[in-house]
Amino acid sequence: AHDIHIIGGGLAGSEAAWQLAQRGFRVRLSEMRGASPANGGEMTPAHQTDGLAELVCSNSFRSDDDEKNAVGLLHHEMRRLDSLIMRAGEVARVPAGSALAVDRDVFSAHVENALRDHPNVEVARERVDALPASGPTLVATGPLTSAALAESIGKATGADSLAFFDAIAPIVHFDSIDMSICWKQSRWDKKSGPESDGKDYINCPMDKDQYLAFHAGLMDGEKTTFKQWEENTPYFDGCMPVEVMAERGVDTLRFGPMKPVGLDDPRTGRWPYAVVQLRQDNKLGTLWNMVGFQTKLKHAEQVRLFRTIPGLENAEFARLGGLHRNTFINSPVVLDRQLRLKGAEHIRFAGQITGCEGYVESSAVGLLAGLMAAAELAGGSWEGPPRTSAMGALLSHITGDAEADTYQPMNVNFGLFPPLHDVKKKVRKEAYTTRAKSDFGNWLDRAILLPV
Ligand code: FAD
Repeated sequence: AHDIHIIGGGLAGSEAAWQLAQRGFRVRLSEMRGASPANGGEMTPAHQTDGLAELVCSNSFRSDDDEKNAVGLLHHEMRRLDSLIMRAGEVARVPAGSALAVDRDVFSAHVENALRDHPNVEVARERVDALPASGPTLVATGPLTSAALAESIGKATGADSLAFFDAIAPIVHFDSIDMSICWKQSRWDKKSGPESDGKDYINCPMDKDQYLAFHAGLMDGEKTTFKQWEENTPYFDGCMPVEVMAERGVDTLRFGPMKPVGLDDPRTGRWPYAVVQLRQDNKLGTLWNMVGFQTKLKHAEQVRLFRTIPGLENAEFARLGGLHRNTFINSPVVLDRQLRLKGAEHIRFAGQITGCEGYVESSAVGLLAGLMAAAELAGGSWEGPPRTSAMGALLSHITGDAEADTYQPMNVNFGLFPPLHDVKKKVRKEAYTTRAKSDFGNWLDRAILLPV
């Protein structure tokens, strides 16, 4: 017997399960990965393990700076609500400048153990193929929701679900990188914490000729082709394939992921013409991912071209890049302010399928959905976090403030916050976070979130 059924054991579903279970509600958490064939066991095109809360691409939760950065502020708010995802992030942390990056295996194992060992959680390895007709339900099946369930959701929302492409970046084995050519340095030697030595990234330098040849290679490289219906699907700007960025202009990459500023090549004492940066991907430091190098180049082409990068001539790839579909609903139209499906209020949505974008945002919306469901199950009322907080701003955006006609997945950013025009631009970010922390703190003091 359970009080609520959560479908999808990804970031959002795991966080929601934790929040509900901690408040005494019995949760059934259904996850299709790792299920037996009889129970519809299935992998998504991007996941590689059976683990709950697997990170499918980058290992970064982005900036952990809660004074100048909106996603860092979201970290702060989630920590204040005892987020399981943030707990696991702390346990699994690896050096990454001012970002919060994690060892993905340690991270997923921590989430899985916390839920499996929880007396109020039953993890059911099973695929769910249709929205349940009754009973409190939370759908958190993510951007790669399985086909039958996606169809059921499409019918219930009365709209064609929107789709666009997301791309993932390759991962390289450390011992295949030539460190006599590459060097470790964070941009401007920025330290990620008291223990950091300001050398969190591996940099592969390029001179002008090498860069131009590489750019040409990206333009000419053989790409994966897509079925006709997929061709008009737009890219999400934050995850644009490197070869699509190359098409925008010969210098676009040099001002984007291949930016050389603040990186001194020890062999010349100068900034190179361009760099490829790699970020540590696991605690052991054995895997490094190519920052900003999500790609739809064919696998053989990726190996050939990326081995022309100085220092990566003998690179061995733990994973190559790829491209996937991303499904989400038109939340501003079909959901109410509490993430419930209009006309079928027993169903609540959370995570990326609501049209937020990113690991942290998906987890945050999972956390909120968990709190909302808990309040509802307890027969209490719900007052959401203030609009001036990161959680409140994100929630307001996806549940009504966004333009429904042009609705696109959205990372948290200060543009979603009620504006502070009167504050000088130079100190505006700090003003947003100061206001947010104060308002969020007041909300926490008075909100009835049920004791944990
Ligand atoms: P997920 O974490 O995907 O969890 C959904 C879960 O539901 C999965 O475990 C899935 O197996 C399960 N499931 C699906 N259908 C069913 C069913 N019918 N029955 C039972 N279980 C089901 N975000 C970033 O911040 N950084 C990145 O670098 C990044 N790269 C990405 C690359 C790709 C290819 C994709 C697709 C997304 C990427 N994202 C990235 C976005 C990221 O996936 C999401 O933000 C995050 O994982 C979403 O969390 P979620 O809980 O909504 O979905």
